[in-house]
Amino acid sequence: MQCTRCNSDNVQRLEVIYEHGTQQIKTKGRTHGSAVGFGSGGLGVGFGSATTNTTGTSQSLMAKKAAPPAKKQIGLPIVLIIIGLFAIIGGSGPFPKVGFVLLGIGGFLFWKFSQYNKQTYPPLLSEWQNSWLCNKCGSIFTQ
Ligand SMILES: [Zn+2]
Repeated sequence: MQCTRCNSDNVQRLEVIYEHGTQQIKTKGRTHGSAVGFGSGGLGVGFGSATTNTTGTSQSLMAKKAAPPAKKQIGLPIVLIIIGLFAIIGGSGPFPKVGFVLLGIGGFLFWKFSQYNKQTYPPLLSEWQNSWLCNKCGSIFTQ
């Protein structure tokens, strides 16, 4: 495997970089957390925030660059549909009208998001799985 730009063979798959970068941050968070724990009581807050970093929400810059494509979250459309239904069934005055609008938006987004997750997302994911990063020139290329 060679870089398509500079012909270096110092290349890594994005998936590997992503998993490695995420793992590194988890370890760093724990080490930092225990070190701060030995300080004064005021630094206890720092210990708390360091602990939350270990949940894996934080990543190295490299891991962020190599992150996989995201699926559309269908939670928001479902919430809109539920609120819309409640407004139609239980509401009075202008609320049922607003409920229909919310139901329409929620239904449309739900359909759009499902289409994206079913048709657009799988090729993006497989492209990501076949993508490599060159450690020499930093370019990302697909096999
Ligand atoms: Zn390169």
